Amino acid sequence: MTANRTKIIGLPEIKLVDQYKRRLNYLRISVTDRCNMKCMYCMTHEKTSKLPCREILRYEEVLRIARIFINLGVSKIRITGGEPLVRNGICDFLSGLSSLEGLSDLSITTNGVFLKENIEKIKSAGIRRLNISLDTLDKDKFKRITGIDAFNQVWDSIMLALDMGFDPIKINVVALNGINDDELPDLARLSLSYPFHVRFIEYMPIGTSRIISSQMRSRQLLAPEIQDRVSSIGRLEPVENMSFDGPAKRFRFENAKGEIGFIRPISDHFCGSCNRLRLTASGNLKTCLLSDIETDLKSPLREGCSDSELADIILKAVYDKPFEHPLVANHAGMISGCMSAIGG
Ligand code: SAM
Ligand code: SF4
Repeated sequence: MTANRTKIIGLPEIKLVDQYKRRLNYLRISVTDRCNMKCMYCMTHEKTSKLPCREILRYEEVLRIARIFINLGVSKIRITGGEPLVRNGICDFLSGLSSLEGLSDLSITTNGVFLKENIEKIKSAGIRRLNISLDTLDKDKFKRITGIDAFNQVWDSIMLALDMGFDPIKINVVALNGINDDELPDLARLSLSYPFHVRFIEYMPIGTSRIISSQMRSRQLLAPEIQDRVSSIGRLEPVENMSFDGPAKRFRFENAKGEIGFIRPISDHFCGSCNRLRLTASGNLKTCLLSDIETDLKSPLREGCSDSELADIILKAVYDKPFEHPLVANHAGMISGCMSAIGG
């Protein structure tokens, strides 16, 4: 694929509709549960048990499942992980995915560390939109949050992506009290000088991430407060959401080159208009990020199921998508998964 993916042509009818009439046209695919970082809000504090390789979907299996989803009406796919760029062969896989007919938007979420060496191939695969996670502009704090000393690598990758014309480049910031809350205005200021979409994400207390237990209550920072802090540098003008936008509430500072977004899974969840499905690295379909309910697609696929049999399994799981997630502010989650395995 070389054409710009934002062009929507001849999309198939959306057959993925749940019992609440939500239309599910966005699939997030986690290609690995491995990561080169250990972000304090994402990775488990217990000794991490990685999936054995045979349990991880092979690329050809992912492509087959993706094609079935596209035939059922998915038009937007995001590749995530763990860290997608740690998996061998990822760029060839992206090219294969990008050539699937019916897909109008393909993007990737990365921590940026291995972006520089892969960026040419990512661009050649037809990807124009990148989400890069960056929670701080301070090198030492970066190491404290992620467990590795790689701030410069990530920053250089972001600048390279900008030079190479990726657009939009979304910078994902998980806002945490006592960790990076003092930097929220500085991170927001990036949108003044660069055309970045800086998106502040409410921390979701799931699984056994390093900060979940006793510290969780004090760490959680909700969007209204994040917005207040960010507004200290200027007035935020609302930006109208487009049909392909995610759940971020979008704003812009006057004369800014970029935008600010707030992703509020806790304070103002977007379950009622959720259009997302997730495929885990182990081949399970998750119809809600914050629910433990998963449907195994890998076993039927490996047992020789036909495409239409797999499509029926998918349609049934989608119909049963939970109405909303159970997380509320200041309350520990009951979700046992780990964000790095699910893909965010
Ligand atoms: N490794 C890639 C990265 O970090 O961009 C992709 C996978 S990561 C799981 C996807 C996104 O989920 C990242 O932007 C990360 O900041 C976010 N995330 C991880 N754990 C989270 C949590 N507990 N609450 C909110 N966002 C989280
Ligand atoms: Fe890895 Fe991304 Fe999770 Fe950080 S947020 S540990 S980079 S998967």
